[in-house]
Amino acid sequence: MTSTLPARAPRLSGARALFTGRAGGVSTGDRAALNLARHVGDDPDAVERNRQRVAAAIGAPLVFVDQVHSAEVHVVAGPTGGHDAGEVPVVSADALVTRRADVALAIMVADCLPVLLADPVAGVVGAAHAGRAGLLDGVLEATISEMRALGSRPEDLTASIGPSICGACYEVPAAMREEAATRLPATRARTRWGIPALDLRAGAISVLRSAGVPPAAIDAEHPCTREDESLFSYRRQASTGRFAGVIRRT
Ligand SMILES: [Zn+2]
Repeated sequence: MTSTLPARAPRLSGARALFTGRAGGVSTGDRAALNLARHVGDDPDAVERNRQRVAAAIGAPLVFVDQVHSAEVHVVAGPTGGHDAGEVPVVSADALVTRRADVALAIMVADCLPVLLADPVAGVVGAAHAGRAGLLDGVLEATISEMRALGSRPEDLTASIGPSICGACYEVPAAMREEAATRLPATRARTRWGIPALDLRAGAISVLRSAGVPPAAIDAEHPCTREDESLFSYRRQASTGRFAGVIRRT
């Protein structure tokens, strides 16, 4: 890292990656300081400066998608070298994959799971926004499928599930918990205060394992957004910013 941007390091192979936090940016108020989202009422110039700081830290232009809680995957294709991420049109999707090393994939979150994937053998990276809807609709399976289409094998993948709301904090209606559990039993949880909850991280781990990612290659040791005030959390404060999981092939 040539930048001093405060960030958490995922445990991945074949990629340079980071999870940003709240510190290190220029936004103020509820979005202080490193808000990366344009859709949360922040000053667009501040968001752009924040994004440039993250791009500098990762060493490549950032590619974002318009995240809509889907299982759609955007393949960032095209030749490597000399292409600015600004040439890539913004599309609606909740995951990105690429073989390119000259761009960094960025997924924004504030409680949902930022899941980063890297295949050091085939040279493919991916990033997914896995909230409740996307996880249950198969966004991680779809991301791995697109990585396979680019030559990746699941047994070679390394994965990191970044800072996100934990199963002891993510309160949901009982019916929602039951519906989720029928599709993904590992999500069934209870809050610290005894209310039905969803453990999306446990659900994501089970999906990754089922897809063939080796358990030892799954990094899920990151803090809970609702509990850690160095991170944006929509559940803790509805008026907030977004941090990001960012990954670049090496
Ligand atoms: Zn928590």
